Amino acid sequence: KITGGLNKTRRVLATDIRDLFKSEGRLVDEEFLGELFARLIRTDMGIKPANLIKDEVAKKFRGRVVQLEEVIETITDEIRQQLRQDHGGLAKSDSPPTVILVVGVNGSGKTTSIGKLAHLLHSQGHSLVLGAGDTFRAAAVEQLTIWAGRIGCEIVTGASGADPASVAYQTVDKAISLGTDYAIIDTAGRLQTQSNLMQELQKIRKVIDKRLPGGPHEVLLVLDATAGQNAISQAKGFSEAARCTGIVLAKLDGSAKGGVVLPIRDQFQLPVKFVGLGEGMQDMAAFDPDSFAEALLK
Ligand code: GDP
Repeated sequence: KITGGLNKTRRVLATDIRDLFKSEGRLVDEEFLGELFARLIRTDMGIKPANLIKDEVAKKFRGRVVQLEEVIETITDEIRQQLRQDHGGLAKSDSPPTVILVVGVNGSGKTTSIGKLAHLLHSQGHSLVLGAGDTFRAAAVEQLTIWAGRIGCEIVTGASGADPASVAYQTVDKAISLGTDYAIIDTAGRLQTQSNLMQELQKIRKVIDKRLPGGPHEVLLVLDATAGQNAISQAKGFSEAARCTGIVLAKLDGSAKGGVVLPIRDQFQLPVKFVGLGEGMQDMAAFDPDSFAEALLK
């Protein structure tokens, strides 16, 4: 699944690296290593991960003539290594419901990601309730209601402008009374009122914990893979205020810079748990480093 989503990145990276090998083999010297580094960087993987890869290639092959396949193999292994702690999959509460709070900047793909995650869990046989906690945007509530209808699950909505924390509370309450496996709660994502938003997120956490001690069990930060490093840095505030536990990287299919998973991992110190691979209901996959590394290069 991840393979298809990374077509754009792979096309660029694989071509770039193949270009380094005009004849059969290539001597691994400083010039080669510099060129390799420059090409890795183009995927937005960041300086540190690219340096680690370059060092590994240098350590193994410096002064030798290598083949394309050997270099590809080494890069793939090193990427896999750098992401080895990450694996898709959610925390699970000992006693249901497992409460998942979803945060992120407007436009990042948050609502769509909630719909896709709900579909994924539902298709695995889990029951769930959605909470339309982005009460500020009527469109987000509408969109989530459509998703709930498609999936066939319950949704809790508040009146327009209702207190998001009260929607969160009612969602957990509903999940408990229905005995569902999951409650997935949307939140507002407007950046212009950042400090209020941070307070709001903290309040939401507090009321969830009040209704269900220990909750939320998972706080997912949705990031837009096409947004570039600056936009992604803006989400740091969310990550800290909401005490996020994992990342959903949306729109990976729309980016030729899929290497961005590496610096995101580094910057947020959070595992990438799911990746968004399109706009459809089924276009989400649990992240796994092996398929990711392979999809990037092979
Ligand atoms: P929100 O404002 O964060 O809730 O963002 P939305 O969920 O409304 O998504 C914004 C836009 O991005 C919509 O047009 C979505 O269809 C699109 N989108 C969301 N996730 C993905 C994805 O994984 N791949 C692609 N190609 N588009 C996506």
